[in-house]
Amino acid sequence: MRVKFHGAAGEVTGSCHEVEANGHRLLLDCGMIQGSEEDERRNFDEFPFDPRELDAVVLSHAHIDHCGRLPLLVKRGFKGPIWTQWATADLLRVMLEDAAALAEMDAERDNRHRRGGRGNHQPLFTRGDVGQVLRQVRGLDYGQREQILAGVFITLRDAGHILGSASVQLEALEPGGRRVLAFSGDIGPRGTPILRDPQPVPEADLVLLESTYGGREHRERGATLREIGEVLEHAWTDGGNVIIPAFAVGRSQELLYWFARQWDEWKMSRWRIFLDSPMAMKVVEVYGRHESLFDEDAQRVWNGRPHPFRLPNLHLTPEVAQSRAINDIRGGAIIIAGSGMCNGGRVRHHLRQNLGRRQAHVMFVGYQARGTLGRRLVDGAESVHIFGEEIRVNAARHTVGGLSAHAGQSGLMDWYGAIAGRPPVALVHGEDDARQALAKALEKQYGAQVTLARPDMVSEV
Ligand SMILES: [Zn+2]
Repeated sequence: MRVKFHGAAGEVTGSCHEVEANGHRLLLDCGMIQGSEEDERRNFDEFPFDPRELDAVVLSHAHIDHCGRLPLLVKRGFKGPIWTQWATADLLRVMLEDAAALAEMDAERDNRHRRGGRGNHQPLFTRGDVGQVLRQVRGLDYGQREQILAGVFITLRDAGHILGSASVQLEALEPGGRRVLAFSGDIGPRGTPILRDPQPVPEADLVLLESTYGGREHRERGATLREIGEVLEHAWTDGGNVIIPAFAVGRSQELLYWFARQWDEWKMSRWRIFLDSPMAMKVVEVYGRHESLFDEDAQRVWNGRPHPFRLPNLHLTPEVAQSRAINDIRGGAIIIAGSGMCNGGRVRHHLRQNLGRRQAHVMFVGYQARGTLGRRLVDGAESVHIFGEEIRVNAARHTVGGLSAHAGQSGLMDWYGAIAGRPPVALVHGEDDARQALAKALEKQYGAQVTLARPDMVSEV
């Protein structure tokens, strides 16, 4: 078995690894590159392999940086099955349909802006391509060992990162013997709300390990919750709105979960809460269909009052006009809107309205990649451009790190430490400083043989 690294090898987004196993070729993930406009143009590039020659895809989870180029893969000739956990299959529809709508809008805008309005930009993919992806998806339960190709088996284990997220154990019964590859996917921290804790793969000959937060620990969860409580209290006293840029999958639902759990403590009933993300609303429905995957705490909260997704002061605003109406509110509103890194979506309208106000607060609760508006705000930019307009930033900014959907260094170490035999590791899905720090820690504590994956690098399993 061999692995060739194509994406998220030296960066965080664009997860994509090609595996040769028992004479078959398959892909682990087929993610989109996210970041600056220049970075994102790379999504139009040819794949570094022929999609028609792939036999299967195994998808770790539904985040767009892991699944976002699947429609393009299909459009360019991939006909095989796409194996993934059932809940991921369900989320995939929501994620990819949204991505296709954005791609179609982008192409249309580019064409309009061309001289004479006669551009011929094609969207990266269309809703038709997404439909084809969904027809090729095959669902699996966690722990179900499935032969996906002759002599090639996969088992998915709960990665505790988002609903349906999985680590992949890939076994190949090759003429030279049985070889096992473990692909971590994205690993969540222990105690993530709603989800169960990550389950390690029991054994492997090579591990592909994510390293997003390989160089640091998150704040302890109790401290994080106190911090959110303080921001809300502060904002209430200031009389402003609270804008929370949040990914539609995971973070938006978690916030509602915390609001329900801390209902009295945070005096949540005094706020008007807006979930201003049509996609997050669809994801809420998906969560409702997979409650059996929730951990025990969440099952208890779901059976109590208030129900996280039916808070009495929660306003869902699917229509654009409803979203616009929020612009008139100058204080007392908590607005959860996407995109999580502020590089698109309705949150940009709310930032445009609120960033200039001293009494407003922006609370970042997720990772902000380089080159995004969110990253510039977190890094303290005094002014930013939104819709071509320069806006001075007077609002208070808070970075609440402890809610991350990614394990910190010790979580990644523990996940690796539970795999029998201390196999060699290739670090993926992290910026270089994070990977170097994690490599050092793995070498020191476990004597592990660690490499930092680079594009086009090949590792033998
Ligand atoms: Zn992810």
